[in-house]
Amino acid sequence: MRVSQLFLPTLREVPAEAEVVSHQLLLRAGFIRKAAAGVYTFLPLAWRVIKKIEQIIREEMDRQGGQEIMMPIIQPAELWQESGRWDVYGPELFRLKDRHGRDFCLGPTHEEIVTALVRQEVNSYRQLPQLLYQIQNKYRDERRPRFGLLRGREFIMKDLYSFDRDEAGLEISYQKMYEAYTRVFTRCGLKFRPVEADSGAIGGNDTHEFMVLADSGEALVVFCPDESCGYAANVERAISPVQGGVAREETPQPLKTMDTPGMHTVEQVTGYLGVDARRLIKTILYQTEKGVVAALVRGDREVNEVKLQKVLDVLRLELANAATVKRITGAAVGYAGPVGLQDVWLVADEEVMLLVNAVTGANRDDAHLANVNPGRDFTPQVVADIRKVRAGDPCPKCGAPLKETRGIEVGQIFKLGDKYSRVLGATYLDEHGQSRTMIMGCYGIGVTRTMAAAVEQNHDENGIIWPVSIAPFHVVVVPVNHRDEQQMGLAEEVYRELEANGIEVVLDDRPERVGVKFKDADLVGYPMRITVGNQAVQTGELEVRYRASGETRLVPRERITGHVR
Ligand code: ATP
Ligand code: MG
Ligand code: MG
Ligand code: MG
Repeated sequence: MRVSQLFLPTLREVPAEAEVVSHQLLLRAGFIRKAAAGVYTFLPLAWRVIKKIEQIIREEMDRQGGQEIMMPIIQPAELWQESGRWDVYGPELFRLKDRHGRDFCLGPTHEEIVTALVRQEVNSYRQLPQLLYQIQNKYRDERRPRFGLLRGREFIMKDLYSFDRDEAGLEISYQKMYEAYTRVFTRCGLKFRPVEADSGAIGGNDTHEFMVLADSGEALVVFCPDESCGYAANVERAISPVQGGVAREETPQPLKTMDTPGMHTVEQVTGYLGVDARRLIKTILYQTEKGVVAALVRGDREVNEVKLQKVLDVLRLELANAATVKRITGAAVGYAGPVGLQDVWLVADEEVMLLVNAVTGANRDDAHLANVNPGRDFTPQVVADIRKVRAGDPCPKCGAPLKETRGIEVGQIFKLGDKYSRVLGATYLDEHGQSRTMIMGCYGIGVTRTMAAAVEQNHDENGIIWPVSIAPFHVVVVPVNHRDEQQMGLAEEVYRELEANGIEVVLDDRPERVGVKFKDADLVGYPMRITVGNQAVQTGELEVRYRASGETRLVPRERITGHVR
């Protein structure tokens, strides 16, 4: 490809709206252009990078037995009503109507569609397991689309869904994906860390996030410096190594088990939430330094999150005037009863937590406690232990002091269990002819976010430094003086030879000063630059410069192809 013909509109200035480096550089280097907030066009170089990332993902999914399909972006509301998510997904769901007034949404994720497909087509244990995936645009009406490709409203995701006969099968599928993800991000040339992301079981492995390490990352990660231990967790999720509070033996005022309207037994709650409420009853009370109280209900994250989203919208209104609440980052729902402020505690900013109601959850099954005062009724030990894990805290696995780093979530793997297969009725007949519910997992990678994360991690003040495996082109050939026929002739020759040998190369044939071409080459981030100047013409030695190290090397003309390959 000749740079004079390449659709590569570079910019000299940093666009004002771009806050993070990847956004700035992808705009400046001519990779992306904005169409609307969180919606981008990918120009030729970006598309080449995306296709490379996709290809790496494909190969690793296929290696684990994944089969690629393509599901519709437009999804009928009926399926979402069946799963219960139509009402609870919230404003992030792009909804639309057809000309007959029927409701649809643009897929933010595909559990409903894929589960409906599999329930229809898979009937026997012999047909399981299945690992189905696609690479496709996803739509999420993010509250704050920002940071360019890192948080878009239209973005490309690889999503794979596993269907197994039982939990043991799911465990195998999950491990396969864990390995596949590790290989994908390694092959993309990224420094990353898989972290525990489950708010429930500490040390649990029901879900992991894959974090690309970068200072601009939205997520805070704690990790054990001892490589052989390997513990790492998202701080948002890793609340504490302690599994719940312990009520004091003697309290000034004995705690009463409450039995108020709106409070329900474990069995009732199980029915209401559709998950084993016992898993949710890990209620913790604590008090932050600012003296505000919160209760967390641990357990099935998605069920909670779905409910929480709904609750949060109510709370935002209710608490709009509460001066202490800076930013609501999450909430917890008391496991009892329908959503209402009575049952809701709010977890705001790390420091700012607010108790909405003085009635609080229990740390015992089947019990609610009235008039609880955390400082008084719970041991100080518990209060201390329940705060978020921080750098310097002992590793929950081995005790070594934890370290902290920031990360960008580029992928997540998740054991869904029977959450969707049960409500949508995805069953199969086992070897004894018994009907059983399939056990599912879901596994996402943000393709476009991965591209941006690669830039966050690999750049300098001059521009992008693409990892070779995902670079849009590998080599740029730069003639120093475009008026010099000998230089242009030699550059052309080198370019053609490299291209004929299957090397991804561009020739900067523009009538520009060499300084401009060098600047653009650095900005775009080609891993190698070959300079063709007078010296090259006279001595037959070409200067090869490596973008990552800045090193240069003289390579004889006749050895150039072998050298850059
Ligand atoms: P986040 O916590 O950043 O909002 P998520 O947990 O909601 O992400 P998942 O539902 O786990 O995202 O989706 C799988 C992957 O899709 C994420 O790991 C991320 O790489 C990518 N992704 C999610 N939301 C976006 C977005 N708005 N823009 C770009 N990529 C995204
Ligand atoms: Mg999200
Ligand atoms: Mg996330
Ligand atoms: Mg996620």
